[in-house]
Amino acid sequence: MELKKPKTNADDAEYIERESAYPLAKRICDAIDSEEFQRLNFGLRILDWIDEVPAVDVRPVVRGKWKKAPCHETDEAYTYICPFCRWYMIAIEPMNFCPNCGADMRERE
Ligand SMILES: [Zn+2]
Repeated sequence: MELKKPKTNADDAEYIERESAYPLAKRICDAIDSEEFQRLNFGLRILDWIDEVPAVDVRPVVRGKWKKAPCHETDEAYTYICPFCRWYMIAIEPMNFCPNCGADMRERE
């Protein structure tokens, strides 16, 4: 079995809840059935290792799409309105994030 390295690019980082890792550790422990692992209390060590992983502050990502409206001052730009906080800007191209509430407006595949 080949282990994949965690991604290091912050934009691509993925986070899991510590609590959700415990059942996985339990499964691994149950799968490992050699006397050596049992003697070393390997299962408990896995749980300790999960506890040692630093927790990170993450917020659920709010994703949305700019509401595009005509601009009264120019034909080249549009008014882009955040659907969450109603913040708006006049621009040719909208920003990837709402600078007011932080909503992620990037197009997703
Ligand atoms: Zn907003």
